[in-house]
Amino acid sequence: MAARTLIIGLDGADRRFIDRLIAEGELPHFKALKERSATFEFENDPGQGNVQFWTSAAIGENPAHHGHYFYMQFDPDSYAIISEPHFPLPPVTPFWKQLDGEGYRGAVVDWYEMPVTPLTHGEVIHRWFAEEPLTKTVFHPEALGELAARYAESDPIAEGYASRPRRSAAERQEFLDRVFSRIDIKGSFFTDHLRDKDYDFYIACLSEAHNVGHYYMDVEDDRHGLHDATLAAEIGKPLRECYRRIDKVLGAVISAAGDEANVFLLGGPGMEEFISANGAIDEMIRRVDVGYEAPLTTADAAKETYHSLIPASLRGHLRPFAQWGRRLLARNAYRDRRFFAVPHNDNAGAVRINLKGREKFGTVAPGNEYQSVIEEIREGVSSFINPATGRSIVKRVIDTSKEFDGPYRDMLPDVFIEWDRTDTRGDFRTLVSELFGEVTVARHARTGDHSPFGFLWAPPAFSETAISRPRDVAAPMLAAIRTAAPRNRQNR
Ligand SMILES: [Zn+2]
Repeated sequence: MAARTLIIGLDGADRRFIDRLIAEGELPHFKALKERSATFEFENDPGQGNVQFWTSAAIGENPAHHGHYFYMQFDPDSYAIISEPHFPLPPVTPFWKQLDGEGYRGAVVDWYEMPVTPLTHGEVIHRWFAEEPLTKTVFHPEALGELAARYAESDPIAEGYASRPRRSAAERQEFLDRVFSRIDIKGSFFTDHLRDKDYDFYIACLSEAHNVGHYYMDVEDDRHGLHDATLAAEIGKPLRECYRRIDKVLGAVISAAGDEANVFLLGGPGMEEFISANGAIDEMIRRVDVGYEAPLTTADAAKETYHSLIPASLRGHLRPFAQWGRRLLARNAYRDRRFFAVPHNDNAGAVRINLKGREKFGTVAPGNEYQSVIEEIREGVSSFINPATGRSIVKRVIDTSKEFDGPYRDMLPDVFIEWDRTDTRGDFRTLVSELFGEVTVARHARTGDHSPFGFLWAPPAFSETAISRPRDVAAPMLAAIRTAAPRNRQNR
């Protein structure tokens, strides 16, 4: 029993870190796989984070073809920020759904943030051990839930555990131990599952490098702006240990898939020190829009830093009230504005323009006015200097309308503002602009954040494939699986 094609997905995995550990003699299974693979390094789409990376990879299209850029999206009718499970995302077809339609039998376990799509011939588990497990696991077919429960009754970091504040070494060690236990549980599940049945393709994903990368970069990296040597001495090297455990699972899963299996490893976007002005973006954008002197409205004051101040552990419990409150506040605060910030991954700020004909109370006309507003935002945000470096905090400003083309482009923010992380430490708390004054940058619980870098290791037959963005990885996977006829057809 085996799988013809094995796809291992490691969200938040960092290829530079993996390469370093391999060079230091660690990660024997990563090393062996890399040596027998065609290896590709690519960048995420401009301004984009993890949700976009994995969604584009699954459907083989750029973000304007799915609109799914973050787990909270903006609704242009109500001006509300709506969390993903409650937001109607466009229908998209992941590559495994295409294969299912052709008769291939596959299993997909925990592909990051992809909307759930049941399969006719195969099995799907969604959010079993997710990066921030705030919603329930979905099993297709349901009986898979009973199978999974034999390995773990529930996610060791569920119920908001992932986002709970952790300060002492004991608290941080406990979370780490729980995350590590997930790697071992999943390893056992994957290997048994692969040995029990025959699959045309098996997709096994792990989120733990993602968790540890977001929350332990300060412990791992002694050059980190928030590094605490005493804490680090007690905890050790959490990210290194995380990859060591993943390496064992990698070896076991590849062996369970069988010697003949085509093996792909997809990882990213990587992890680096958390350096972000998203903790100030609402206020920066407000000042660029209405001016430095304009007083805060009640709604602005309440909305400001909502995302930073309410821990995700409480967001779940408060959701019905918070959504109702936010909807009212946002509607009042935003409908008269020309543009405003919307939540996004911390690598980049995101701005929505209040566009006539698209937003219910649009104030900006399409065409020349829209373009001049984008230039105004570009100049305005670029004027904010990080006093720690003396340079602008802005690396580049991305005009989505120029960068992406596709049917759901309007679901994306109009502007992404990538933060400058060069020679910077993540502990700056203020930004200063000659035009717009000083703003405070709220501190975040995370100490690591996504870099733009992804990687794909593929069977050598695909060495000529061109891979420059996440959307390019679906084609070689489809091609590898289609080189054999579906098992279902052979069995008929
Ligand atoms: Zn992330």
